[in-house]
Amino acid sequence: MAILVTGGAGYIGSHTVLYLKEQGEEVIVLDNFTKGHKAALLETPYYEGNLHDEALLDKVFTENTIDAVIHFAASSLVGESVTDPLSYYENNVMGTFHLVKKMVAHDVRRIVFSSTAATYGEPESTPIKEDDPTIPTNPYGETKLAIENMLKWSDQAYGLKSVCLRYFNAAGADPEGRIGEDHDPETHLIPIVLQVALEQREFLKIFGDDYNTEDGTCIRDYIHVMDLAQAHYLAVKKLRETEESSIYNLGNGQGFSVREVLETCRQVTGRIIEAKVAPRRMGDPAILIASSKKAKQELGWTPQYAALETMVQHAWNWHVNHENGFNE
Ligand code: UDP
Repeated sequence: MAILVTGGAGYIGSHTVLYLKEQGEEVIVLDNFTKGHKAALLETPYYEGNLHDEALLDKVFTENTIDAVIHFAASSLVGESVTDPLSYYENNVMGTFHLVKKMVAHDVRRIVFSSTAATYGEPESTPIKEDDPTIPTNPYGETKLAIENMLKWSDQAYGLKSVCLRYFNAAGADPEGRIGEDHDPETHLIPIVLQVALEQREFLKIFGDDYNTEDGTCIRDYIHVMDLAQAHYLAVKKLRETEESSIYNLGNGQGFSVREVLETCRQVTGRIIEAKVAPRRMGDPAILIASSKKAKQELGWTPQYAALETMVQHAWNWHVNHENGFNE
């Protein structure tokens, strides 16, 4: 029995693939490599192509004995989703539509879905719980929520069981330094700060310091990518054992401000990292912190790398050894 990982060459996907293989799982990847990196697969067998290619999906499901799918493949830039929403509906919602249709046709009825804190929008209370209102404030979150709903109705109609994992801020890299985070363009805080440390950027732009938080900068809940990977594995195990659909937040339960992240990066790298306050970025809520109690209780999820210093250290270890990311 193999697990099919769509988007397995991306940041969270590739770390999950590595983790699954270390647990002795057979893994097959489907990726179109528009954002992902072949080098991140570390010899994992893969199919190159798009979720819209139903003939390819037939081939993947016919040539392998797949009992579960972990579905990462998606567009994931909030800003881009605002300027080009239709491409997000096409890539995310329609891509998943083709995947789910073919899963049902090939009688594969377990899916772990890569969802997001962006499904909640601006939270009414903190920490955010799974049954809090979901009112996305951008097309990215909206498409992820649409997919969650597609999966809910597909469970009722076709018995397709799903676990939706709503991530907060993924960070860090493989503790052994085999793979790491490499986005183009890079938009995430920690890798951007590390690029400044490596003198690949002049300074960090702090997007707003007039938020209603202690130091005025936004607070986010950072979670180590390998801890996310562990949760995906546990989700597959739960689906195999219980055949029950569910939704879980994945975060640390602890928030760090932009300035705290910057300070931690300065300490870990020992470099002077310049920063300047810039205008707020559109659509950024002041505080996003998850309650992950449910994932801990029901999945038995036990994050191993909860300290921000550890996440930054692992990210730094990779960046400092791969200044050009995977393009070396
Ligand atoms: N951020 C920033 N400067 C940057 C990138 C991000 O100040 O160059 C801030 C951003 O406004 C947010 C936090 O860092 O408050 C985390 O942003 P990121 O894009 O990493 O993740 P998001 O919370 O948007 O998913």
